[in-house]
Amino acid sequence: MNSKIIKGILCAALTFVMILGTVTFEAAANKPDINMSSAHSKIGYPVYLKVLRADRKVKWSSSNTKVAKIDSTKGKHKERATVKCLKGGKALITAKLGKAKFKCKVYVKKKAKKKEAQIVYGECVYISSSGKKYHRADCGTLRAKKFEVQKSWAIANGYEPCRVCNP
Ligand SMILES: [Zn+2]
Repeated sequence: MNSKIIKGILCAALTFVMILGTVTFEAAANKPDINMSSAHSKIGYPVYLKVLRADRKVKWSSSNTKVAKIDSTKGKHKERATVKCLKGGKALITAKLGKAKFKCKVYVKKKAKKKEAQIVYGECVYISSSGKKYHRADCGTLRAKKFEVQKSWAIANGYEPCRVCNP
């Protein structure tokens, strides 16, 4: 084989890989997903979880109901869950859709010191069920129903910083 043919094959292979990559990415974007894979909270502060693009009934469970338990579920497919934080520790919340499982590690603190709390909560931003902006927790434009997500997740999913609270 001469080098031109080899180059041609390599180029075709690379293009194929790129197309495949794009297709895989797009498919993943349309699939159900959980709004966050980990959450930090305190006793008495609920964590709001949501399965995005849920197309069937969601079954929620907690690995440690003494630490965090499913308090209530809402939505057509029960895709929204309010997790009650009861005790310091760690619990793995699982959302099951048919055979698919989505997990969120919930870390519950007994009592967060102010300095500590800033470090922990600094990574998180808030989104509402409508709109494509992410906010600080106390933003006035946020509606009552808000979801805590990691800032990196919000950015990766196309959310933009709110101009009002500048998170
Ligand atoms: Zn805002």
